[in-house]
Amino acid sequence: RAKQHGRGRAEVFDEALRSALALRAETEAAITAALGNGEMRLHYQPVVDVADQRLHGYEALVRWQRDGVFVPPDEFIPVAEMSSLVCDLDRWVLGEATRQLAAWRAEVPPVPGEPEPTMAVNVSGRHLTDPRLVTAVADALAASGLPPHLLVLEVTETVLVDDPVAMTHLSRLRDMGVAIAIDDFGTGYTSIGQLRHMPVDTLKIDRSFVTSPDPGQRELVALIIRAAHTFGLSVVAEGVEEPLQLQRLRQQACDHAQGFLLHRPLPAEAAGALLRPVPDGVPAPRTDGEPVP
Ligand code: C2E
Ligand code: MG
Ligand code: MG
Ligand code: MG
Repeated sequence: RAKQHGRGRAEVFDEALRSALALRAETEAAITAALGNGEMRLHYQPVVDVADQRLHGYEALVRWQRDGVFVPPDEFIPVAEMSSLVCDLDRWVLGEATRQLAAWRAEVPPVPGEPEPTMAVNVSGRHLTDPRLVTAVADALAASGLPPHLLVLEVTETVLVDDPVAMTHLSRLRDMGVAIAIDDFGTGYTSIGQLRHMPVDTLKIDRSFVTSPDPGQRELVALIIRAAHTFGLSVVAEGVEEPLQLQRLRQQACDHAQGFLLHRPLPAEAAGALLRPVPDGVPAPRTDGEPVP
């Protein structure tokens, strides 16, 4: 009986595995198609200066409209990450985001002496150890003509810590003039002391710290900001949703902030409009960004 029972389970398991693999293959094929047929788009979330809320740059965030239905990146990027498909995705995003910022610069020429907006692109951890990443970035810069210092690559700390190959790639990218940011900082295991030795320019403090009501967490944010500044890094706070959070970040001398309070991720049209000078007395249009969930 036990044996029969066992076999039954194995069959159920087999069946489940087969359909999981089929689903994965189907999703992979759909992602590949989406990269070519316009179903995949980028939205751009503005990043602002904490001090005066002026535009500092953008983060490109991929959006997939699959047969008219929105699929969140947290759902399909993990599928892409199971294979080298994620390299194709990252390459597409890099090409699109650099092209877009270059187009905005052509439309609204930079004001001499004023800092220019940057474009941050998320790079998958898996791609970091792949030599094709360096080529993909070089190709995107060459094709768009974007100055390298306006491109920021966001990487998560989990892959960074002890992967010498990833470190080498990041160093090469930095030598090209591209900036590196650690995304979701605080959720992994990087100690503040390790930052000193990492080829990075910016820390993005994870939303969970920014929104935490716990005074201990807030003290930690203050500490991270001070340490980052000591090592010459700039700091972006992610996920700012309330005025009080922004006020606190200002007191903590945080450099930049990003979050629904400031701007939602915007379609290219609305994001680019922020660069155009606003006539005096006319308030800037409020976001026509993504709907409040
Ligand atoms: P992330 O890089 O940490 O991006 C920030 C996420 O927080 C975005 O979610 C953004 O919409 C969301 N967000 C921004 N402000 C707020 C806020 O005030 N409150 C809340 N609750 N959320 C806020 P999104 O676009 O769903 O992306 C999720 C993750 O998927 C990203 O996290 C990133 O890891 C990944 N991702 C997105 N686009 C790409 C891409 O083009 N390539 C790769 N490799 N990964 C991407
Ligand atoms: Mg990011
Ligand atoms: Mg993040
Ligand atoms: Mg995050």
